Amino acid sequence: MTGARAIELAMTLRKQGIADTRVLSAIETIPREVFVDRPFETSAYENSALPIACGQTISQPYVVAFASQALELDPKHRVLELGTGSGYQAAILSPLCRMVYTVERHKPLLVQAEERFKTLQLRNIVTRHGDGLKGWPEAAPFDRILLSAAVSEVPQNLIDQLKPAGILIAPVGGDVQSARGVSQSLTKIVKSEHGIERENLLPVMFVPMIEGLPRDARKPDEPGKI
Ligand code: SAH
Repeated sequence: MTGARAIELAMTLRKQGIADTRVLSAIETIPREVFVDRPFETSAYENSALPIACGQTISQPYVVAFASQALELDPKHRVLELGTGSGYQAAILSPLCRMVYTVERHKPLLVQAEERFKTLQLRNIVTRHGDGLKGWPEAAPFDRILLSAAVSEVPQNLIDQLKPAGILIAPVGGDVQSARGVSQSLTKIVKSEHGIERENLLPVMFVPMIEGLPRDARKPDEPGKI
């Protein structure tokens, strides 16, 4: 059964050091099999990344849980996620905060993710088809920002969209043009009065953040909804 497998996954993550009980209960309640493509349904609760459409990946549950925990979320927070992909990370954030804003450059991925949010009745997720490197200026500032794709450096305009004392989590570094096989560091940035505090948290391997929209989808940024 789905529920049992998700509970088992949460137990595995707890053994691996994920201690935030709210994050663990989100892992238990969000069915990951909804976010993977048919051939991978049986692997949905394995602790591994899996391929999704458009040559992208759904992140490893451990990394999703780790990043969610590192965001130190409060139920009042408004969170920006860049790189919706399958939508799984946004779905995990949904019960942990007030509002999730998520941006994806591949329209087909976004449409699919929106359907999943609707199916699961995750009503506090809003979506946008656009370039995540621009953030979501109209909805800024955010309490938290999570980059779900790797950057060589965190763009200043994203830090600008963070509230004072806000936290940004991003996979930084590596050869982001050919990220497969090259690891990045999951980096925590805290915006303080004195500037930026930076901490390396975990070696990770994310697909790269790519500027602009894919060739077949060159349209202006479209705020969407679910
Ligand atoms: N959070 C996702 C992880 C998806 S992989 C999940 O849980 O499944 C990273 C995603 O970032 C991919 O879908 C990729 O298309 C997207 N991405 C890469 N560059 C982007 C950009 N500039 N703007 C928005 N999305 C981007």
